[in-house]
Amino acid sequence: MSSILESAKALQEELLQHRQKIHQNPELGMALPKTCEYVKNQLKEMGVDVTEYGNSAFSALIGDPSKGKVVLLRADMDALPIKEETDVPFASTNGCMHACGHDIHTTMLLGAAKVLKMRENELKGAVKLMFQPGEETLEGAKYMVAQGVLENPKVDAAMMIHVVTGIPLPSGYIIIPNAGASSAASDTFEIVVNGKGGHGAMPESSVDPLNIISHIHLSLQAIISREIPAAESAVVTVGVMQGGTTFNVIPDTASMKGTVRTFDEDTRIFIERRIGEIASGTAALFRATASTEYVKGCPSVVNDESLVHQMYQTIGNQFGKEFIVPMASAMPGGKMMGSEDFSFVTQKVPSVMIALSMGNSEEGYAYPMHHPKAKFDQKDIYKGAAIYAQFALDCLNQK
Ligand SMILES: [Zn+2]
Ligand SMILES: [Zn+2]
Repeated sequence: MSSILESAKALQEELLQHRQKIHQNPELGMALPKTCEYVKNQLKEMGVDVTEYGNSAFSALIGDPSKGKVVLLRADMDALPIKEETDVPFASTNGCMHACGHDIHTTMLLGAAKVLKMRENELKGAVKLMFQPGEETLEGAKYMVAQGVLENPKVDAAMMIHVVTGIPLPSGYIIIPNAGASSAASDTFEIVVNGKGGHGAMPESSVDPLNIISHIHLSLQAIISREIPAAESAVVTVGVMQGGTTFNVIPDTASMKGTVRTFDEDTRIFIERRIGEIASGTAALFRATASTEYVKGCPSVVNDESLVHQMYQTIGNQFGKEFIVPMASAMPGGKMMGSEDFSFVTQKVPSVMIALSMGNSEEGYAYPMHHPKAKFDQKDIYKGAAIYAQFALDCLNQK
């Protein structure tokens, strides 16, 4: 039988058709009826069974879990509320856009499904394909994990690919992370200071929450500059400060909202605690009270060391080591400050997340993901399908 890469390459034309169909009908969040119908029909034609989790979430199983391990391959399927401004002939016209390349992930996983289905009898175990809604809203993976996507059969290892465009890397190059965290955890917080309102001419009879919230804002900066080790990356950003209505009235309350990005779980917990302490401590200092609400959003994607090693082998054997770019040299600090909700999977099972370049500006792909003009070089779609399939095979063949 031909190699996985050859089998995938033979599907290229078919994959382009899938991608165009999905790209033309972008859907948002947790409701992707057209996309799901299309993908499930393709799987049905291949003879692959689907398990539904509700809310446009489903998985498909290829192989026999009683023969060995279960490897999960994940693709997200949702688009963004952006009006497409590309010149591709299959551009979306419904006001939404696959500007993050999730249409390509879905297509690549369909390709992997076909390639793996052809070899189903040889599989030493099973491959579970996770088709996920709601990545951009960071709710889909969490939902599917809660609905049991990692059980029945139990998943032993998980992998995902994200395509990238508009970065300096030429098309076809693959970014592999180091073991450990490779995307930031993203949380939000809101602080409300309760002072005592009054006449602006007699501040002594008031407790001014605007003065207090200013002190809190300045003090929060000390968490990063004075309390986190310099080698540790973290961000505390206040994006909203509000209070008061007119020039001569001291308001009762003032509030602020912000976001926290971290890579290390202990750092995350530390910052959450310190924001609360600084808010209430500063408020108490000035005779007020403050309440802090801290909402944990999405954790960090954490890459498993042996799967990272496995990925180097898989890609090196398929394409040659020269196509591998360590994330340490592709991104500042070797990590992305953005978030990826595959992290909810990586919290539960050993996992790895890689990126596949689909064009840089010299090749005519100048715009980054989430941009209305973002385009992707389609010529390497089959490579993504091949990586998905080969990685799963290599994992199953590992002793
Ligand atoms: Zn995105
Ligand atoms: Zn994305």
